[in-house]
Amino acid sequence: MIVDDQYNIGHICTRQQCDNGLGDKVAFRWLPAGGEPCDVTFAELDRQSNRFANVLGALGFRRGEILFTFLPKCPEQFYAFLGTLKRQVVCGTLFSNFGDEALLDRLGDSQARGVVTKKSFLKKLGRIRSQLPHLKYILVTDIDSHQSDGILSYPQLMQEAAPGFATPVTAADTPSVLHYTSGSTGKPKGVLHVHGSVLMQNATAREVLQLGADDVYWCTADQGWVTGTSYGIIGPWSLGVTQVHYGGMYDAAKWFDILRDERVTVWYSAPTALRMLMREEDTLYAEYDLNCLRHIFSVGEPLNPEVIQWARAVLGRDIYDTWFQTETGAIMITNRPGLAIRPGSMGKPVTGIEPAILADDGTPVADGEQGNLCLRPGWPSMFVTYLNNDTAYRQKFIKGHYFTGDTAVRDPDGYYWFKGRSDDVINTGGHLISPFEVESALLELEEVAESGVIGAPDDLLFEKVVAFVHLHAGQVPDKNLEIKIRLHISNRVSSIATPQELFFIDKVPKNKSGKIMRRVLKARYLGQDEGDISTLED
Ligand code: AMP
Repeated sequence: MIVDDQYNIGHICTRQQCDNGLGDKVAFRWLPAGGEPCDVTFAELDRQSNRFANVLGALGFRRGEILFTFLPKCPEQFYAFLGTLKRQVVCGTLFSNFGDEALLDRLGDSQARGVVTKKSFLKKLGRIRSQLPHLKYILVTDIDSHQSDGILSYPQLMQEAAPGFATPVTAADTPSVLHYTSGSTGKPKGVLHVHGSVLMQNATAREVLQLGADDVYWCTADQGWVTGTSYGIIGPWSLGVTQVHYGGMYDAAKWFDILRDERVTVWYSAPTALRMLMREEDTLYAEYDLNCLRHIFSVGEPLNPEVIQWARAVLGRDIYDTWFQTETGAIMITNRPGLAIRPGSMGKPVTGIEPAILADDGTPVADGEQGNLCLRPGWPSMFVTYLNNDTAYRQKFIKGHYFTGDTAVRDPDGYYWFKGRSDDVINTGGHLISPFEVESALLELEEVAESGVIGAPDDLLFEKVVAFVHLHAGQVPDKNLEIKIRLHISNRVSSIATPQELFFIDKVPKNKSGKIMRRVLKARYLGQDEGDISTLED
């Protein structure tokens, strides 16, 4: 796939496909939430991303600087992402539901020089802009003319830019994509990838998703998440595969219309969405002929066996679970066509990946026993650092293994079974939420004295966010305050981080050094034994 040492992802996904004779092939069919579908060929994807690379040149962006997209799913997302990479500028992506604090953390830490966004998000950025001295340009996809020196019209810039761009030959170790990931302590960390990751995303799109020339592929993931970039952009387009991109929200009937009408052959989605589909009446699906659909894949959370049984019974298809994370950049462990599925297991490693189940000190754990899920470093899509936090990066490695933060079991036949996280990070509907970020936002409210946030099991979302709040003396824990708290979290962190359940408590359990004992809160919530509480503060 690599020609003349050119590893540039932007080039490989566009120009190289044209050079291979696919210029007139549809790269993606854009299905807006309302309005007419439109087809974009690889030649057009190449021209639009070239224009964007030229826009960045005209604005003086240099190699290695950082630009973010802060967009819902839309064609401009793809042009900006690929054009940024062509220019060897690093492209970060942000979920469009992020609140002020979440944006400030990410744009501030990365010292991003530009953001591409929509008019409706300008207010959010306006509120934090004075705290972002490095943020020079905000490019707005839906304003016709420039508003000021710093707020520019994307359409105007694109119109003025030339459609040709000679992408510089880009070495494999050149920084490419940046995604922030949440931990259980401290601020989110910027996971940095390099252009060479395309080797792994390409190989797994071929070997696992089994994408080929005639496929019509639909990945429902948002581009704010690693799945949306690795498998909603890079993997499929590096193979010249036609994608479907839909701009609307979850809607069972609409989704099935898309699968049928667009003749989707490979579909990549997430357990929460699949569980939502499972809750609909089975009769809904009876009218759909999904003859074209070869394979369904899932990622982001454990895929429970019930969903697999449902898909077999109702859709007449298997669902293949895949496991990876932002840091790994590509699928590492997976079920796939040709490998017998053990429902509830994540499957087996992909070619070249060597997982290990290790104790905390890095010594191996026997098959059948639970331990840390680790990987032997060296695969091409592995992250190269946490931006500005090399210490945290190094801490992820013990005795030559990368510790993923997940716990798992390997059975004697080599299948891996996900058990949980080894930290307090909450996985709600496939989104990792930091309890620390939610707790920090809660403390901004004058009524709140202390708080503790946990993830609790949930039938639909896998985990839900549960907040325990201790109020200052004299504050009244009523419905109005509850609404105020929820709104605040939604505005500051994100709508997804908004607590599903909120409890007012007299005291937040902490250990003697003042650390919130989330483990104790969780045990209390679940009615379980609180374990060793000898270190609990009096
Ligand atoms: P992210 O970095 O946001 O993509 O989240 C990665 C984390 O999501 C992993 O470390 C797991 O905790 C979880 N995850 C991803 N895929 C799976 C899966 N197939 N089964 C269980 N957990 C998963």
